[in-house]
Amino acid sequence: MAIWNRAAIAKLCWDLTQKEDKLWIKWIHAYYLKDQNEWQKRDQPSWMIRRIMNAKLIVDQCQPRQGKGVIKHIYDYLRGEKIKPEWRCLVFKNPARPKACFTLWILMNRKLATVDRLTKWGMTLDRGCVMCKRAEESMEHLFIQCHYAEAIWERLLRWINVHNNMPKSWTEFIQWCVKNGKGKTARAQMFKGILAEGVYGLWSERNKRIFEEKSSLIDEVVKRIAYITIARFPNSITNVIKHRHI
Ligand SMILES: [Zn+2]
Repeated sequence: MAIWNRAAIAKLCWDLTQKEDKLWIKWIHAYYLKDQNEWQKRDQPSWMIRRIMNAKLIVDQCQPRQGKGVIKHIYDYLRGEKIKPEWRCLVFKNPARPKACFTLWILMNRKLATVDRLTKWGMTLDRGCVMCKRAEESMEHLFIQCHYAEAIWERLLRWINVHNNMPKSWTEFIQWCVKNGKGKTARAQMFKGILAEGVYGLWSERNKRIFEEKSSLIDEVVKRIAYITIARFPNSITNVIKHRHI
C-alpha cells in the first residue's frame, strides 16, 4: 500500500510534466514552477505539493511513457526497488507442503523466532539449544550446525543422492541451497522439497521439545519426512528414490 501511494504521488508528478492542459496542473505551473526549468520550490508550497515535487526523481528514473498504465509502470518500478533475493527459487513451485514452504520462507527471511532473536527483543529465556544442549540456539546453529540437524540432513541428502557437503555458515548455506535447488529438473525439485520439509521437521521438533516437552529420535523425524515426500511429491520427482532405503 505504501508503494502504491508513492506510485500515485509520482504519477501526479508525471502529470505535471506531461499534461499541462489540466486546470490544477496549470495552477501549479503558474504558481510554483513559473519560468523555471528546474523544479525549485517557491513560496513554501504545501506538504502535498512538496511530496509531488520530490517524486520527480522517481519519475526521472523510471521514465513512464505517455498513455495508459503510467501508475502501474511506476508501481512496478518501485516494487522492483526491493531486490529480489536469489533464494526465491527455493520457495516457489516447491512440491513440499504449504506449511513447510512457509516455514522455509520465514527462515530465508531470517525471521524465525529463535532464542537469539527473542533475547534481542528483551525476552529472558534459556538460551540453550534444546536439540543438543551443547550450544546456544541461533538460526545458524539450529538448522545447519547442531549435530541433530547435521544427522537429519546427512540422511535426507544421501537418500536423494546429494553428496556435496552442506556448508556451516549462513551465507554459504544459502548459496549452496540455490545452486542445488535452482531450475526445473527433477533433482532440483526434489532438493528444494526436501529442504522445506527438513526445515519444517527440525522446527516442529524444536517446538515440540520446548512447548510439549516431547522429543523424537533422529530416525523418526527422517522417516516421517521420507513418508511425506513419497506420499505428496509427484511421481515424476520421486520415481528414483521411491525404493531406495533411507
Ligand atoms: Zn544444538
